[in-house]
Amino acid sequence: MTAPRPALSIVVPCYNEAPCLAELHRRLSTAATAVVGTSHEIVLINDGSRDGSWAVMQRLCAADPHLAAIDLSRNHGHQLALTAGLDLCRGERILIIDADLQDPPELLSEMMAVMDGEAADVVYAVRRKRAGETLFKKATAAVFYRALSRLTDTDIPIDTGDFRLMSRRALDALLSLPEQARFIRGMVAWIGFRQVPFPYDRAERLAGESHYPLSKMIRFALDAVTGFSTAPLRLASHVALWLLAVSFLLLIYIAIGFFSGSAVQGWTSLMLIVVVLGAVQMFVLGMIGEYLGRLYIEAKRRPLYIVSDIAGPLSNQARLGH
Ligand code: UDP
Ligand code: MG
Repeated sequence: MTAPRPALSIVVPCYNEAPCLAELHRRLSTAATAVVGTSHEIVLINDGSRDGSWAVMQRLCAADPHLAAIDLSRNHGHQLALTAGLDLCRGERILIIDADLQDPPELLSEMMAVMDGEAADVVYAVRRKRAGETLFKKATAAVFYRALSRLTDTDIPIDTGDFRLMSRRALDALLSLPEQARFIRGMVAWIGFRQVPFPYDRAERLAGESHYPLSKMIRFALDAVTGFSTAPLRLASHVALWLLAVSFLLLIYIAIGFFSGSAVQGWTSLMLIVVVLGAVQMFVLGMIGEYLGRLYIEAKRRPLYIVSDIAGPLSNQARLGH
């Protein structure tokens, strides 16, 4: 017989967050207890941290029967760490939150009220302000979310992170999507059901630095675009049509030059055309490569993550994320 589900699970991916964990646990426990009493579980996922986060988690787990911690075999990345936690959590409702306390846990009670009041399956938090983040991060995020919504057919909400409250049926729908390259905020938008925005102000990181350097941001953005749109694959045909039009004009220009006896000379224009065409072709090939590479990774059907250890109440669960 399976144990009854707790009313609420809080799932937190953590990478090198040791200085935040004690405060995180305290604030999450207080917020959860205020809303659902003891019927909650907090699931921390240690995504291959190198700063002793796992030892801190084990210590916290020993003192709190509502806290479970999952230790992944290595750093699998934010979205896969989150997937591990979502796979293993058991709650009727699920709150996803970052470990650095940029998303205030105290909003939980309001989000629960919105979910009840609006009979929603997903209450997603929309960032009104972002304190303590660099201009570069804010600018790239603003451009990225707007470009993404133009490229995709799925209505992925703008300026929304993974901070959200979900019902069990929404989570089960999400977990039925098998892809390796996971862009969870987009996948949640894709599953449908009633989803309601919840505006909030994002706080500063409690300690440490962002674990999303430019390289990870680019990868994340490419996962989002390739996962939700095939528009870049059609880019080649669009560009080709434009180039065809331009080449017609050029043809007329050359013909006029030829018949009027002043044949066009020009190393510069020739070079320019060669270089521009070369760049366009390489770019299009690169885009095709991005899709092909992802197809290859999907075809291998590897597990999404590997769990090395579990502390606390979830310890009899499966350890491979398929
Ligand atoms: N994170 C993770 N694995 C990674 C990178 C980040 O689990 O490889 C976690 C991190 O601990 C945090 C969340 O993902 O809880 C968001 O990361 P971060 O705060 O660094 O990103 P930002 O808020 O700057 O976008
Ligand atoms: Mg953060």
